[in-house]
Amino acid sequence: MPTLTLASSPQIRNLAITGRALRRPVGSWRWLAACLALLATEAVAAEPPAAAVAKSFRVYISVDMEGVAGVVTADQLSPAGFEYERFRRFMTDEALAAVRAAKQAGATDIVVSDSHANGENLLIDLFPSDVRIVRSWPRHGAMMAGLDKSFAAAIFIGYHSSTTNPKGVRAHTISSAHFARLALNGTAVTEAELNAAYAGDFGVPVVFASGDDAAVAEIRARLGDLDTVTTKTSLGFHSAETLTPAASCERIFEGVVAALAHRDRRHPYVLSHPVTLDLTFKNYMPAEIVSYLRSVQRIDSHSIRFVGHDMLEITDFIDVLDWYNPDIAP
Ligand SMILES: [Zn+2]
Repeated sequence: MPTLTLASSPQIRNLAITGRALRRPVGSWRWLAACLALLATEAVAAEPPAAAVAKSFRVYISVDMEGVAGVVTADQLSPAGFEYERFRRFMTDEALAAVRAAKQAGATDIVVSDSHANGENLLIDLFPSDVRIVRSWPRHGAMMAGLDKSFAAAIFIGYHSSTTNPKGVRAHTISSAHFARLALNGTAVTEAELNAAYAGDFGVPVVFASGDDAAVAEIRARLGDLDTVTTKTSLGFHSAETLTPAASCERIFEGVVAALAHRDRRHPYVLSHPVTLDLTFKNYMPAEIVSYLRSVQRIDSHSIRFVGHDMLEITDFIDVLDWYNPDIAP
């Protein structure tokens, strides 16, 4: 009955407590109509129409640079390099190819993370005005910062192979300066697998990856049969036979359109929890001093072990190891 519904409604109970006007005579039908109108308004505000929710299709694009077509050395990868300005444009173009493809596939919201070096490589003024860009470091979630469970799919552009892979242009994992090996639950991982596991904790599947042939082979071996584009064939750590930037962008566009069209085939990549991180430093002293922490176990001369509740804790811990230095300023 309507009267019972009104009496049990929290909105009406609140009004009864705080609203002086409710103490008017019960027979005030005008007041009852006002209450019903208020209820209707609040119901609309609390729950957006089902159609609007169903249409939401968010895509997260994480962009690195070593796997971009043409990149082979620090000449392209670092602001000091003579080709950097041109290649940050090529990196941006590959990201834009993925953005256009996501839009064509029906994406309603796109976040792009600049996940190489200083995190300030992408030319943000070239992106459509409804795209948001994650920039600079440190940031919780690292190369996946800003991702949450509301995203439908994750895409990796410009990725490279891991530090333990004997092949691949500029192969490394997170930090070529600090880390010699990074393993999760006993298996050495590439950045793509680490980031896929992070997305997996939010229930978000990785549907597409691009990079050199060594990176693509490693990613497919670990993450399964996802759509990929090989931007170049590695001939060594500092050499490759590469697609042109335009050809690479074309293939990335087509690959991402296809990947998002059948994204339902892909499942989140979820590691068993808690997650064990084994990390080998390039130097001896970091392993010694970090193992002073009771939460850290030293497993050999250069390696430590840390067990995290989930991938959020693991990525934060890796960031601490990569970033902490008592001279950090400001
Ligand atoms: Zn990079």
